[in-house]
Amino acid sequence: AVERTATALVPVAGVASCLPVVGSDTLVPLVDGRTVPYANLDCAASAPALCAVADRVTEVLPLYASVHRGAGYLSQVSTALYEASRRAIGSFVGARSDDVTVVTRNTTDSLNLLAGCIPDGPDGAPGRVLVLDVEHHANLLPWQRSAGGATVLVGETSVAGTLAALRAELAAAPYALVAVTGASNVTGESLPVADVVAAVHAAGARVVLDGAQLVPHRRFSLSETGVDYIAFSGHKTYAPFGSGVLAGRRDWLDAGVPYLAGGGAVRHVGVGDVVWTDAPARHEAGSPNVVGAVALAAACDALAALPEGVLAGHEAALRTRLVNGLSTVPGVQIVTAWADAVDPVGVVTFSVVGHDPGLVAAYLSAEHGIGVRDGRFCAHPLLARLGYDAGAVRASVGVGTTLDEVDRLVTALHAYVSTGP
Ligand code: PLP
Repeated sequence: AVERTATALVPVAGVASCLPVVGSDTLVPLVDGRTVPYANLDCAASAPALCAVADRVTEVLPLYASVHRGAGYLSQVSTALYEASRRAIGSFVGARSDDVTVVTRNTTDSLNLLAGCIPDGPDGAPGRVLVLDVEHHANLLPWQRSAGGATVLVGETSVAGTLAALRAELAAAPYALVAVTGASNVTGESLPVADVVAAVHAAGARVVLDGAQLVPHRRFSLSETGVDYIAFSGHKTYAPFGSGVLAGRRDWLDAGVPYLAGGGAVRHVGVGDVVWTDAPARHEAGSPNVVGAVALAAACDALAALPEGVLAGHEAALRTRLVNGLSTVPGVQIVTAWADAVDPVGVVTFSVVGHDPGLVAAYLSAEHGIGVRDGRFCAHPLLARLGYDAGAVRASVGVGTTLDEVDRLVTALHAYVSTGP
């Protein structure tokens, strides 16, 4: 078991059950030879595994074996672990009893899978997808490449305007699916899910949420929201790389083209013919990532065990401190997509006017031991529309982030703008 003292890391009462294995007691070297505690403000890229996840992986590592078709004891144990993980993950996102939870590699994988399952419209033409230009490329390119293609709505600068544009487009043309971010990986902002679902369902289409930045930060439920599909990534949800999820309505997934062709996805194979099986196995050909699924389920269980509101409250406090702190730094501009967005998650992107974002990020790391991300965040259309073609800097928080780490970023930026790197 990974040992860690709670006191060093717990910034908010109640978050102790979600300690990450890498936290603010991890030392990193600076350019001048000193070492300082690492301030990981890049949780939106990948969030450090929780201790509960590390413990669970250690426990199951000796147990894994080929699932589903092995008769031996370990195969049975492994199959049970894998299927129990699937149930835990589905329940974490409030899957309805007739929903399917497919274990994938990550959000990108999940959305590409769904893109191959969109049915034709009543006129026999391949179903089209409606998507906004605020999306991560993972929630844009799979739809553009799908059989029916996608319409990309150039976003409005307000939530109200965006919803109106969405409704107008849905009234003007038939769509099978609307793909919407659960929370932007650039601004942390989101559209109100209830309004999106109502508009899309009224037009006879379905909604998929890109939950990569939503699920690690907020409670989410398919059954409570009426969202049809949700996709998210294990490595952003405090589990290691290699596991992801697509959960949602069964019919499209049972009828869609199997995502991968191979063993496990079939009922019967003859010479030259094949009978594919139903979802989820239909889309999980090949030996699955049993340990990855177990790790992700452990992360889901740990997050689900947090008392209601603790996670959102923790992040809101960090985000407020961050935004207030950044607004005191001369030349810092915070990037927003929608002026009237409410309750954004703990992801804040900013530029330091006149300074190259790559140099700012390198300075924060080399001189202060602060990890942030710079660039265009796989959201080139949004960054271009908002005037940040040269990129920006992103700070993002998670369950282990402390107010002290946020303050260190603000202090370091003050030092940067006053003296330069
Ligand atoms: N969607 C959003 C909003 C993201 O932030 C990311 C990753 O940064 C992705 C999708 C893609 O996630 P992955 O690389 O795990 O597939």
